[in-house]
Amino acid sequence: MSYCVHCGVELDDTAAVCPLCATPVHDPKTPRDTVSPTPYPTRSSTVELPGKGELGLLVTVILCAVAAVCGVLNVFLKPGRLWSLYVIGALLTVWFWLILPIFLPKLHRAVKVLLDGAAVALYLFLISVDLSGRTWYVGLALPIVLAETAIVLAVALWLPRHSILTSITVLIGGVAASCLCIELFVDRFLTGRWQPLWSLVVTAACAAIMAVLIVVRRVPGLRAWARRQFHL
Ligand SMILES: [Zn+2]
Repeated sequence: MSYCVHCGVELDDTAAVCPLCATPVHDPKTPRDTVSPTPYPTRSSTVELPGKGELGLLVTVILCAVAAVCGVLNVFLKPGRLWSLYVIGALLTVWFWLILPIFLPKLHRAVKVLLDGAAVALYLFLISVDLSGRTWYVGLALPIVLAETAIVLAVALWLPRHSILTSITVLIGGVAASCLCIELFVDRFLTGRWQPLWSLVVTAACAAIMAVLIVVRRVPGLRAWARRQFHL
């Protein structure tokens, strides 16, 4: 029994070099055993890892299986309620948001945003079916989802063509527009008229930050300082 002089690992009698650090083995008292088979395979090969598409397919099958099990259980457990729609809708949304981009990596971001919005609208629709909530779905949920999808779509189309400073400014503007839309539709649904309150506070804060960012973007000295400071 001999040990590597460099790293100290125990060596097999057949080893010509250390399997760990590749230091040549030289033990004058124990000549190398060239007859016995080596403990390691003589041929190296790589294990093929599953591709993204195959993983996506696996996750799709798992999601479908969970949805099917929930659907069947719904027949026996509380059959008066369509509770399985909550799970099926959530799984469907997860699939559209996370798995579809794996199968279609070159999907245009606009199409992806529209499909994601449609998935959320469908999920809320399934919930409204169980709760008999046609009124709140049509009057509140659907308008908010449509408005938010439109805002995200506009931001997503704008972002890649502009600098980071401009992109951050547009993102903050998108947040303000989202809040205004949500309060508008909630107010219209509950009271019939728009009385903006919390969304105006958010919008004012966003406007102040946007004003600062616009000034920084426009003044060359400030712009160079911001780029250095924040590694933009
Ligand atoms: Zn070694």
